[in-house]
Amino acid sequence: EVDAQKLADETIENIKATDKDINAFITVDEDAKASENLDFANKLAGIPVAIKDNIVTNGLKTTAASHILDNFIPVYDATVVSKLKDAGATIIGKTNLDEFAMGSSNENSYFGAVHNPWNLDKVPGGSSGGSAAAVASGEVVAALGSDTGGSIRQPAAFNGIFGIKPTYGRVSRWGLIAFASSLDQIGVLTKRVKDAAEVLNVISGADEHDSTVSEKAVPDFTKALGQDVKGLRVAVPKEYMSDAVDEGVRKAIQAQIDYLKENGAIINEVSLPHTKYVVPTYYIIASSEASSNLQRYDGIRYGYRAKDTKNLLDVYVKSRSEGFGEEVKRRIMLGSFALSAGSYDKFFRQASKVRTLICRDFDKIFEDNDVIVGPTTTEPAFEIGSEVKDPIKMYNNDILTISANMSGVPAASVPAGLVDGMPVGLQIMAKRFDEESVFRVADFIERNN
Ligand code: GLN
Repeated sequence: EVDAQKLADETIENIKATDKDINAFITVDEDAKASENLDFANKLAGIPVAIKDNIVTNGLKTTAASHILDNFIPVYDATVVSKLKDAGATIIGKTNLDEFAMGSSNENSYFGAVHNPWNLDKVPGGSSGGSAAAVASGEVVAALGSDTGGSIRQPAAFNGIFGIKPTYGRVSRWGLIAFASSLDQIGVLTKRVKDAAEVLNVISGADEHDSTVSEKAVPDFTKALGQDVKGLRVAVPKEYMSDAVDEGVRKAIQAQIDYLKENGAIINEVSLPHTKYVVPTYYIIASSEASSNLQRYDGIRYGYRAKDTKNLLDVYVKSRSEGFGEEVKRRIMLGSFALSAGSYDKFFRQASKVRTLICRDFDKIFEDNDVIVGPTTTEPAFEIGSEVKDPIKMYNNDILTISANMSGVPAASVPAGLVDGMPVGLQIMAKRFDEESVFRVADFIERNN
């Protein structure tokens, strides 16, 4: 007999002990109640799941790791959360992240850095670093994350787990605290590929609250598992295997590509010629959208309000100055500048055009290929504190993950071995709404490792 409440209680006890070193959770729901009348035909019945703290949960504090929301208790559930609850999952707590999901190391959190369970001196990646560390340390089997420029895949790679960002429009964003709405997508982090397929089955699909979700039927993603790769056309962009990528990482990835080839996949070297522009393009578009989305934190409607203010303007200025962290302010300033009358044509419009070129690079490759593979990151997890003072260096970390958000394609990271004792990930991308090919390859690689 399965006692779901006992499992929830034990999970909470274990998190309390383990998390002293890791700091993966901002909030653990100590009163988490397993659903009653569980139908165990449902794969998620009684399974404890953690939710990134930029996804709203009814009655459970949701902070986006920001001082400006550190006391915010939502009055509704995000669509993904309702869907998990309907499937019988137990929402166990809210995971740490970079403030408003802006970052690649989880060091930009008001609630402190997250530590990589493989080596506590290293970052877990970001921004879904809490979700990744919670799964890697065995605190939970599954966690939701969000991915705007790599925030599911890069932490998955750094923690030696699986993470998938589905197609833009596959999963509802209703209740996701918006960062860059044209890029944001909710996805799943798990140790096992199959578990992610089960969770994605549950959270996908049309939603009356989010008109950007496709009406397309959601396939059973587990059907893509257990297959071979014979005849699968695999593109490897030469820009993803250049000297800019750490040699150890390249070797680990090449070994996986060789394995696909030995098993009958057709490997094609291709080019994504606009790769060198993706980082600046992304940071203009993402920051512009963020500057607009974050206008709502004005100290009036919800969240933190500064004390001792003289007038309304003072409330706005002080609340925002005290409530937002450094990185968030940097992005708001950059985005406001890029959208301002004198700069719009030079920056935002130009970036939007380059985004189209990046999308075309992808569409062209997918005319003759089923998947694109390469490394998820240019290096394994770095030391806490080593890059946080150098934003440009930090931004450049995202060069391999951003394009999938720009073009909206599904993309995942699956463990691909260790480099200097730290895990690295193989990134797999496919055509829009073809998560099945991503799962097929990820599962095949997982069975080899
Ligand atoms: N590291 C990227 C950024 O800081 C991506 C973040 C994300 O995907 N949420 O914007």
